[in-house]
Amino acid sequence: MTNSGKGQIGNIDLVKQLNGAVVYRLIDLEGPISRIQIAELSQLAPASVTKITRQLLERGLIKEVDQQASTGGRRAISIVSENRLFHTVAVRLGRRDATITLFDMSSKSLAEAVYSLPERSQDALEVSLLQAIAKFIDTYQRKIRELIAIAIILPGLVEPEKGIVKYMPHIKVDNWPLAERLETHFSVKSFVGHDIRSLALAEHYFGATRDCDDSILVRVHRGTGAGIITKGQVFLSSNGNVGEIGHIQIDPLGEKCHCGNFGCLETVAANAAIEQRVRTLLNQGYPSKLTLDECNIGAICRAANRGDPLAVEVIEHLGRYLGKAIAIAINMFNPQKIVLAGEITEATKVLIPAIQSCINTQALEEFRTGLPIVTTELNHQSAIGAFALVKRAMLNGVLLQQLLENQTS
Ligand SMILES: [Zn+2]
Repeated sequence: MTNSGKGQIGNIDLVKQLNGAVVYRLIDLEGPISRIQIAELSQLAPASVTKITRQLLERGLIKEVDQQASTGGRRAISIVSENRLFHTVAVRLGRRDATITLFDMSSKSLAEAVYSLPERSQDALEVSLLQAIAKFIDTYQRKIRELIAIAIILPGLVEPEKGIVKYMPHIKVDNWPLAERLETHFSVKSFVGHDIRSLALAEHYFGATRDCDDSILVRVHRGTGAGIITKGQVFLSSNGNVGEIGHIQIDPLGEKCHCGNFGCLETVAANAAIEQRVRTLLNQGYPSKLTLDECNIGAICRAANRGDPLAVEVIEHLGRYLGKAIAIAINMFNPQKIVLAGEITEATKVLIPAIQSCINTQALEEFRTGLPIVTTELNHQSAIGAFALVKRAMLNGVLLQQLLENQTS
């Protein structure tokens, strides 16, 4: 169940894993598809395709469906992936709670619950988190056919291969081997990832960037973070962490950031900073329908959409700074799409034009021409990033191979 042998994975095993992944991926993405088409597209020998599809069928991971006429006039049986028999427990660990969602393999959410987790030490948090997951599994047991993985996303720094948490913004952690703890406790393959990077991957599999291989997702919430997808993969350094767009300096004379520098983007682009700016302007007597009592991000966005001058000013001000940082990211990565996420996306009518006007003057013409700026399609599914980690492990063969070898897990 552990990864301990992974370093010495044999060539034959690796080939098996990769070939299995190629076949499964084609079926999952292109299905219904015939064995002949799989062989053509994968360039695997027809006998290999037959063997792999037999294993996948026996394991229940794919199923045969109605026949389709092949080009030669003969009829061939088509195959699709079987999504309903396999389940994932996906967790979004926040600063005070955990949102836990049960997904089937089609990314359909079957159940969701939020558990309060106020603990402020690694050990206490681990105990409570494991208890919350156990309780969730117990509560929704009858919906689960086969639990194939548990995945957690969280704010902070994660070593993605081993699922070790190196840093969290609100508690002190010491190389927290969270994936290993989950695997020991629940005897099921487990994954841990960074929340925004994982959300960018989810957007690529199930959301706004399904149709492109290179994209940047920017989310504003407590701060600003980015997830960069290049060639269909999450862009990471060997240190694991990239995309700290929130700490690009956008104003040398700006506020002090919690990172120690001054004028970072997230001193402006964070829900609390946006709300504070509205409060300050209201106190200075700027006319607005907003009141000091009703000064939350949702109300501000709705007011901006209605044309409230103060709310519009605040969102445009935010858009100009966000746009500046996004233009830098465009010049660096030349993406095919920019995705915005977070509560601010409710104010798209005002926000996107403000961002766009910065991009038009600060990003290379060749990079910005025809570049769509869109909003997330996954706004209300906070744990879907965790499910994306499991989906990836199926598509790249890591989890798929384990399922094939372990019939009774
Ligand atoms: Zn900073």
